[in-house]
Amino acid sequence: MPSASPLPPDTEWISPEGVILGDLACIACGYNLRSCGATDQCPECGESVAIAVRERWARDQRKPWVERYGEALLVLASAAIYVAATWLL
Ligand SMILES: [Zn+2]
Repeated sequence: MPSASPLPPDTEWISPEGVILGDLACIACGYNLRSCGATDQCPECGESVAIAVRERWARDQRKPWVERYGEALLVLASAAIYVAATWLL
């Protein structure tokens, strides 16, 4: 596994040139890092932009699981209500 690349692959909010295209808050000071380079430092506090990029990327990876889990819960709740309603009537 190549550890040389500091950036996660396939991030649509980073341009191929490594520029942040979307809103991304600095993890240290909250400064909006949009249009900064992904390997730069935060212009406000000097924190590494790559850390914020990796955190955002990790969050994006988790999102589909959360959504699937939420959907499954909704289906289960609907089924439980249906069963309860048919059993009671
Ligand atoms: Zn900062």
